[in-house]
Amino acid sequence: MGRMLSVAAARLGFRCHIYEPGAQPPAGDVAHAVTCAGYDDAEALIAFAKAVDVVTFEFENIPTAALDIIEAHAPIRPGREALRVSQDRLIEKQFLQDLGLRVAPFADVSDAATLDQALAQIGAPAILKTRRFGYDGKGQARLHSPDDAASALADMAGSPAILEGFVDFTHEVSVIAARSPSGEVACFDPGENLHTNGILHSTTVPARLSPAQRTDAILLAANILNALDYCGVLGVELFVTPAGLVVNEIAPRVHNSGHWTQNGCAVDQFEQHIRAIAGWPLGDGSRHSDVVMENLIGDDMNKVPQIAAEKGAALHLYGKADIKPGRKMGHVNRVKHH
Ligand code: AMP
Repeated sequence: MGRMLSVAAARLGFRCHIYEPGAQPPAGDVAHAVTCAGYDDAEALIAFAKAVDVVTFEFENIPTAALDIIEAHAPIRPGREALRVSQDRLIEKQFLQDLGLRVAPFADVSDAATLDQALAQIGAPAILKTRRFGYDGKGQARLHSPDDAASALADMAGSPAILEGFVDFTHEVSVIAARSPSGEVACFDPGENLHTNGILHSTTVPARLSPAQRTDAILLAANILNALDYCGVLGVELFVTPAGLVVNEIAPRVHNSGHWTQNGCAVDQFEQHIRAIAGWPLGDGSRHSDVVMENLIGDDMNKVPQIAAEKGAALHLYGKADIKPGRKMGHVNRVKHH
C-alpha cells in the first residue's frame, strides 16, 4: 500500500520518503528516498522526520515511542487519536458504541474467569480476538460452544482479548471515506467484501444495499471521521443484517477493500489520501464503472500471465520478493464500463 500511495503522490508532483524496518520495501522502488531502520532507531527517525513535510502510515502498529519522536519534528496524519482507537479492539468497540453505532456484543477477556463471565453474558457461538495486532483473521478463535473456551484462550497466548458475539450477517460491505483538514468529507461507493479464511478475497461494486442502507453506511462513516477529527482515508468494515448495519472495525489508512477505486473512479483512495494529508481539496471519487477487485494471494501469482491477457482486467502487482502462502502479492480490477 505504501507503494501505491507513493505512486499517487508522485502523480501529483510530490516526493515520498519511505521509512521501513524491513529490507527492500516494495514502496522503495517507486519513492524518492528510502530509510531502512528500526522503529527503535531514534537517530534515523529524527533524520527522517526532519526531511519531510508530513508523515503518514499504512500500518497501524507503529510503536508509540517512535511516533513521539517523529511528531516532535513533523505532523502525523491521520492523528494519534485515530491510531489509539483503532489499535485496540476494546477501545474501538467502546468508541463506536459511544457514537451510537451498532457493534457486536463484546466483553473484555484477560483470563479463564473473565472468559467464563463473557460467555455467560454473550453466549455461543462467539469469536475471541486479541485486542491488539490482529489482521487477516490472525489472533482470532471461534467458539462454537462454551466447551471451546480453554482452547480459544490458549490461542490468545496470554494476550488481552475481547469476546465478540457472532453477528448473523447476510453479507459484508465497507466504506472507504476521506476527510481533509478543513473538515471536507468524501466517501467512495460502498463495496461488498468476500472473505476466505479471514482474508479478503474480493470486493464488488456496487454492493448489494438498499438506498437507505447505502445512505446509512456513508453517514456513519462520516460520523466516525468527524468524531476523530480525522485527516486522510479511513476504511469502515460493516456487517449487513436484517436489523441494520453493524460496524465490525475501522482501519485508519487506505484499505484493501478500496483498491477497486483505482479503476472505478477518477480519483482513487490513494490519491484521495495524499490530497487530504497535503491539505488539498478532496478529488472526485464518484464511481464511473462497476468493478470486481480480486486479491492475488500466494500461488494466485501463477494466474498472472492469463490475467495479463484478459480483456477489461487491470493488474496491480506489488513487487514483493517472495511468494508465501496467504501473502498478498497483487490484485486485479475487472472493470465493466457503463
Ligand atoms: P476482523 O479481523 O475482525 O475483520 O474479522 C475477519 C472476518 O471474520 C470478518 O470480515 C468476518 O467475516 C468474520 N468476523 C469477525 N468478527 C465477527 C463477528 N463478531 N461475527 C461474525 N463474523 C465475524
